[in-house]
Amino acid sequence: MTQIKRTKIVATLGPSTDNAEALCGVVAAGVDVVRCNFSHGTVDDHRRRIDAVRKCAADQGREVAVLADLQGPKIRIARFAKGKIKLEEGAEFILDAALNDDAGDEHTVGIDYKALPKDVNDGDTLLLNDGLIELKVKQVKRKKIICEVVEGGDLSNNKGINRLGGGLSAKALTDKDKSDISHLKDLNVDYVAISFPRNAEDIFEARKLLDAAGCDAGIIAKIERAEAVQAIDEIIQASDAVMVARGDLAVEVGDAEVPGIQKMIIQRARILDKAVITATQMMESMIDNPIPTRAEVSDVANAVLDGTDAVMLSAETAAGSYPQKTVESMYRIIMSAERSRRARISGHRVECRFQRVDEAIAMATMYTANHLDIKAIVALTESGSTVLWMSRISSGIPIFALSRNVATQRKMALYRGVYPLPFDVTKTSREDVNKSAVRVVKQRGWVAEGDLVILTKGDLMGVHGGSNAMKILEVGKVY
Ligand code: PGA
Ligand code: MN
Repeated sequence: MTQIKRTKIVATLGPSTDNAEALCGVVAAGVDVVRCNFSHGTVDDHRRRIDAVRKCAADQGREVAVLADLQGPKIRIARFAKGKIKLEEGAEFILDAALNDDAGDEHTVGIDYKALPKDVNDGDTLLLNDGLIELKVKQVKRKKIICEVVEGGDLSNNKGINRLGGGLSAKALTDKDKSDISHLKDLNVDYVAISFPRNAEDIFEARKLLDAAGCDAGIIAKIERAEAVQAIDEIIQASDAVMVARGDLAVEVGDAEVPGIQKMIIQRARILDKAVITATQMMESMIDNPIPTRAEVSDVANAVLDGTDAVMLSAETAAGSYPQKTVESMYRIIMSAERSRRARISGHRVECRFQRVDEAIAMATMYTANHLDIKAIVALTESGSTVLWMSRISSGIPIFALSRNVATQRKMALYRGVYPLPFDVTKTSREDVNKSAVRVVKQRGWVAEGDLVILTKGDLMGVHGGSNAMKILEVGKVY
C-alpha cells in the first residue's frame, strides 16, 4: 500500500490565497485545516474565505476543517505621528497610557492596554515587535512606564508588547473576541483558537460564550504565555486541542526554552487524549523564497518526530510569495520524517486501567494493529472520540474514520493518522454494514483483497460513545 501522510497541515488564509485558483492549489497540495486569523480582516472577509475553502474541498471530494483564531489581548503600542521611528540603544523611551494614540515619537508612545503601568515593575524587561526591541523598565510613574532602550532598532505602529517571564494580567477574551464568537455558528467553523489563555478558567469562559452562541466548535488553547506553561495540564484538560504558539511563547519565556517546552506540551497533550498543533515560523523563509532552509526542514521533521498532530503555516501561506510550494515542501518533509520514525509500536498505556468501554476498544484495536499484520483500521464513529483515542497511540497504520456526521468528519481532519470518510451506518442494514464499510476503503484503493483490517463499531449504530466491538476481517471475505 502507498504511504499516506499522517501528520496534518494547518494553513493560514490571507491575501496570498484570496484568488480561487491559488486557494484550491494550496488545499490540494495537502492542507487538512485552514486557519482564519481574526487579528486581520472583517467577519465578511472570513466568510468569503470559508465559503471558498468549502467549495475547493467539495471539488476535491474531502472535508477540510476551518479554524477561527481569535485575536485575544495582544498588548500593543499605539501609533507614531510619522508612522515609524528609530530607537537608539541607551536612550530613554516612555510608554505612556495617557498619551494620544497617534502622537508617538522618538521619546514616547501610547499603549492600547491602559492598565499596563499597573502590571509592570522596575527592572522588568519588555519586548516589542516579537523581541526585536528590548526595553528595561527604569521607573513606573502613574500612567508612564519609563524605560531604557537595551536593544534598539526600527519601531512602527501597533507593534506587540510582551513582558519577559509573562505575568501581564489582561483577560484572554476581549470585547472583540466576544463579538467574533457571536458570528462563529453562522460561519460554521470547526475549531476556535483562544489566544493568550492563562489557565483553565479562560477556556471555561470561552466554552460558555460558544455555548451561548450555539457554536459547537472544538476549542484550541494557544500556549503562548509563561503562566499557561505552568498550568499546562489543566488547560489541556479544559480544551479539545492545544497549539504550541511559538511566536509569542518565545518572547515570554525566552526563545531557547521553546524547543523543550514544545516536546513537553506535545507529550502532555497525547497523554491526556487531546490533539496538538505546532505553530509559527516553521517555514518562515519561504515567505520570500521557493525553498526552505535546512533548519526549517529539520524543525518540521522534528515536530513530526515529537508526535505533533499538525504543523502550521502562518504568513507563509497567508501573505507569502510561494504558498503552494510551501505546502508541497512541508508535505515532502512530513512524509520523509514519518518514514524515518522508528517507534511505530507504542508501549503507551500498557500499565493503565481504562474508564470506558469505547476507550478499551480503541486501545485493544491499536495494540492488535501494532502487533499483527493489519493494513488498516476502519472505525465507524459518531462523535470521533474512539478515533481520537486510537490516534493518541503511535502507529504506522492508517485509521479510516467513517462517519455520517460532517462536523465529526471535519473535526477528525486534525487528528494524526486519521482519514475521515463519509459513511451513513443508518442507511445500511445490520447484515451488510461490515461489507459496506470495508468497501468504502477498498474502493479508494487503500486496501486490497486478502488484507487484514480491524473494524470497530457499536451494537447500537449511530449512537455517540457506543463503540463496543472490534472485529478482525480479511478484505474480500467479509460477512
Ligand atoms: P499568532 O499566534 O500568530 O496569532 O500570534 C501564534 C503564535 O504566537 O505563535
Ligand atoms: Mn500569538
